[in-house]
Amino acid sequence: AFALPAAAYMLQDQEVHAAQMERTFIAIKPDGVQRGLISEIIARFERKGFKLVAIKLVIPTKSFAQKHYHDLKERPFFDGLCDFLSSGPVLAMVWEGEGVIKYGRKLIGATDPQKSEPGTIRGDLAVVVGRNIIHGSDGPETAKDEINLWFKPEELTSYTSNQEKPDST
Ligand code: ADP
Repeated sequence: AFALPAAAYMLQDQEVHAAQMERTFIAIKPDGVQRGLISEIIARFERKGFKLVAIKLVIPTKSFAQKHYHDLKERPFFDGLCDFLSSGPVLAMVWEGEGVIKYGRKLIGATDPQKSEPGTIRGDLAVVVGRNIIHGSDGPETAKDEINLWFKPEELTSYTSNQEKPDST
């Protein structure tokens, strides 16, 4: 074997750690904010054990909403959807944790609240697809793109929560 300088090992460890930290973009849409569901929704992600690493309240412009939903631009509801997303404050967040992308979607429930299971956010709190209160990235690539679209790198925090530390300091 060959030896690397200590600093190189440290950098490698950090890279491994960073590569393992899965992150997803979650947004409470204007209907969820206006209905006063912010704390209810955040509580569900917190109680599951996911970690909040970025959060801000923003009113997106329509062109920003079009960028966010660009995959849906051929759909008949695209224009109304972008009007709606830019109609008021959106709570944009990044959540971190093992399996957070897929499990976040599970917590959210199916796109159409009529088909979302009870116990999910949309199942418990929403009724129609055009007002389904929350967005969550649907895969690793989308998560990366959406985090980069909504947040600047310096707005993303990186920290070890007290529960993750052996001595609770
Ligand atoms: P999801 O938000 O579950 O990832 P999609 O990416 O398919 O679902 O759609 C994005 C958003 O577009 C949905 O959350 C919903 O607000 C809206 N939407 C989807 N389908 C319809 C529809 N048939 N009519 C109106 N709005 C829709």
